[in-house]
Amino acid sequence: KNRAEQLQELDLLKSKLYANIAHEFCTPLTLIKGNADEIEDEHEGEIAERAKSIVHNSNKILFLVNQMLNLSKVEEGGFPVRYVQSDLVAFVRLIVDSFRDYATLRNVELHYEPGRRQLMMDFDPEKLEESVSNLLSNAIKYTPEGGEIFVSLRMPDTDHSPERKIEISVRDTGIGIPEDQLDKIFIRFYRVEDKRFPYQEGTGIGLTLVNEYMKMMNGTILVNSEPGEGSEFVITLPVTQTAPVEKEIRLKGTFTRIEKQVVPQFKTTGIEWGLPRLLIIE
Ligand code: ADP
Repeated sequence: KNRAEQLQELDLLKSKLYANIAHEFCTPLTLIKGNADEIEDEHEGEIAERAKSIVHNSNKILFLVNQMLNLSKVEEGGFPVRYVQSDLVAFVRLIVDSFRDYATLRNVELHYEPGRRQLMMDFDPEKLEESVSNLLSNAIKYTPEGGEIFVSLRMPDTDHSPERKIEISVRDTGIGIPEDQLDKIFIRFYRVEDKRFPYQEGTGIGLTLVNEYMKMMNGTILVNSEPGEGSEFVITLPVTQTAPVEKEIRLKGTFTRIEKQVVPQFKTTGIEWGLPRLLIIE
């Protein structure tokens, strides 16, 4: 019992430490990004390109920091659900569209199949954006070139229950997940170790957050997967229409703005024509 209590205490301390570190990173990073943004606007050519690269990389770290901060907010109960009533079909389309550049860059085809024109319902835009973005970013990340991703909306048959539900499915033709790991991927910091794909960046926080958000919104998240064939993640949410209507919702964008990787262009000096040339690719 003592040991269990100690472990629990240690876990709490660890969470606090992560949250504190994430918090400490936030302000300096935002300042670095802001300055680099200004330099990019004020200059052209190589300087602007380098500034762009700083902005891009700051965005990547800010994305992780935000994920960690949100997870600690959820764990402390300081991230309440804020419902609005709006068109889910249009909202999910906005999220999918914000990933089109990233999908093109990775040579993956992205399809959106809403199956209906409109669906007015209550949802928390911030949490839903983050959830669908996480699933989409994973789908693109774990799908090799030439693969496909389908985002669809489905109304499951609920003849036996008066409650209407909607499913948001994100299916990919990617590397898949071994069956014995399917229940573990929702655990904080858990990542599948696949030696064939050793360079996939990630922290193992994304799905934990989605799972927590779903619990807060009376929803669920399920996964089906076949290694080598692909995966399907399905979010199910209750359809209610009681919150105040908000016609147009903008994306927050913190989790979706994955810009193209900018590689700074360096000028070559003093090319001696006629000599053999060596191209070094890093
Ligand atoms: P991260 O992607 O940052 O590692 P997540 O919590 O989002 O963290 O995902 C946990 C793990 O689940 C990932 O490390 C990956 O092994 C696996 N996973 C998630 N989505 C997919 C997917 N679409 N295809 C294959 N594996 C996936």
